[in-house]
Amino acid sequence: VEVLANLNQVQTKIALTLGDITKQGDVEVIVNAANKSLLGGGGVDGAIHKAAGPQLLAECRQLNGCQTGQAKITGAYNLPNKYVIHTVGPIWNGGAHGEADLLAACYENSLRLAQKTGLKTIAFPAISTGIYRYPLEEASQIALATVQAFVKANPGAFELIKFVLFDQAALDCYYRKL
Ligand code: ADP
Repeated sequence: VEVLANLNQVQTKIALTLGDITKQGDVEVIVNAANKSLLGGGGVDGAIHKAAGPQLLAECRQLNGCQTGQAKITGAYNLPNKYVIHTVGPIWNGGAHGEADLLAACYENSLRLAQKTGLKTIAFPAISTGIYRYPLEEASQIALATVQAFVKANPGAFELIKFVLFDQAALDCYYRKL
């Protein structure tokens, strides 16, 4: 599924894909839904470290972790990308503990860091919606709204922003909202 955001004659393609984020060779950077230690974990984090190889963990050890809502960049090693941006989503705790702002900050700070690094193509997983239990309906709304607001405010910054959804239910949810 692809949507073109046509702003000031500059087009940013926003795409939804069903699949594995470690197999997205058409983007320069993939985003990891990491934990604060940046030392690896389960879910998409485990898959990214496994595919990238042990050098990724070695680089992550030098970063001294990452706060919730913030983002840090590393090399991508054996992945088919140039970089990995590690961001830490909020753990869902009922929704009245700043979760929405922190989740939006993950997308915003990842895009800022990619832009600052000169990258034009990026892929995101559904941050916080697995082990961190953020409800998919709310999380997908925040993901799409934050990315679309960034594209509007920074026309031409990105050529391609992909959401890589791991199952059909997540893809359907994003598709309805888009
Ligand atoms: P969090 O701790 O931020 O919730 P998870 O990795 O547990 O992170 O889950 C985030 C999302 O990533 C979930 O929707 C999960 O289904 C999805 N996911 C897990 N593995 C992959 C993968 N290899 N590629 C893309 N998405 C994945």
